[in-house]
Amino acid sequence: MSTSVPGLKETNVDIEMERAREVDPNRQTFPQPRRRVLEMPEYHPPLANRSMLRLDFNENTFAPSPKVVERLHQTSAEDLTIYPERQHVEVVVAEHLHLEPNQVLLTNGVDEAIHLLCAAFLEDGDEALISTPTFFMYDVSIGMMTPHLKRVQADASLEFPFERFVTEITPRTKLIMVASPNNPTGAVVSRAHLLAICAAAPHAVVFVDEAYFHFHGETTIDDVGRVPNLIVGRTFSKAYGLANLRIGMLAGDAHLLGYVRKVSSPYNVNGVALDVLPFALDDRAYLDWYVAEVHAGRQRFTEALDEINVRYWPSQANFVLFEIGTRHKELVSRMRDKGVLLRDRSADPGCAGYVRMTIGIADHVTRGIEALDATLKEMQWTRPQ
Ligand code: PMP
Repeated sequence: MSTSVPGLKETNVDIEMERAREVDPNRQTFPQPRRRVLEMPEYHPPLANRSMLRLDFNENTFAPSPKVVERLHQTSAEDLTIYPERQHVEVVVAEHLHLEPNQVLLTNGVDEAIHLLCAAFLEDGDEALISTPTFFMYDVSIGMMTPHLKRVQADASLEFPFERFVTEITPRTKLIMVASPNNPTGAVVSRAHLLAICAAAPHAVVFVDEAYFHFHGETTIDDVGRVPNLIVGRTFSKAYGLANLRIGMLAGDAHLLGYVRKVSSPYNVNGVALDVLPFALDDRAYLDWYVAEVHAGRQRFTEALDEINVRYWPSQANFVLFEIGTRHKELVSRMRDKGVLLRDRSADPGCAGYVRMTIGIADHVTRGIEALDATLKEMQWTRPQ
């Protein structure tokens, strides 16, 4: 397709660009991104054909609170014309979490929060520290700012390698990211260890990602403000079931969070999400019900894995990681044929042959277990030695 640019005679931009590429294969005459953008890793989650049982992305598998749905139906056409206002909802969220409003920043999911933290705090020469395996967006957002990302690999237990982690903190460490519960392992880091990391790196921002907090119950959010370098992340995508509305948050020392607020767009969170969030927070009964479904489902799923002799890692989140071995791709593909999506985590460091299943409401867990059991039998699968 040719694109003519008004005011530039009859220029065919596509042909011009193609010609320029032939003359200059390295595209030196084209605008170049920053070096870090060229070198940063890309995240490619499977994004198509997910209209089956979604046990692949750790979403709520069912629905948000009925109070949220009722509120959504009240959204008017005019509501959609208005730029969203974040501030008054931050006041509501702060009150809900017993924080001050300036200790809360609402974001476009925790994904954006991670991005903003890196933009606010990391420079090219700075070091960042994570343990692996963990959520890949840390790699992406850190890699966008600095090449100096240190990864401390967990051992075969996949537990957080606290002792080795702390020894990797240096005077150049500027940002530390720890997920508890961690994705994809489901392992947790104790509050005592998290506070010890904050104390060992007073010159670094310590981001504790509590995306899966509700399924675990332990938090460091009560240390916000008291521990000056601590920032906690929470999402409304998981237990609250609002992944499609893209809303998450950071809680941290007001001064520190001020820098993150400075680099965020004032309209980063859409008004529909902001409008329904107070209703989601208010419906404690719904949240408790969903979390109880996940707890019961997690228990039932691990019992089923024991029965069919599949090795797994204990999880405090709404998913369980288990070992299939060399036939991991085949399992995921056969499960898809049965209408159940799982997530192959084999490419994660230290996870060769591992697959993750999201735990949702009872019926969805039952379907997951039945499909897994049937598939492993069809495959005549045996446990890797
Ligand atoms: N942190 C972790 C550890 C996650 O697993 C995820 C979701 N996969 C996120 C953050 C991102 O959550 P959100 O939907 O709020 O962007």
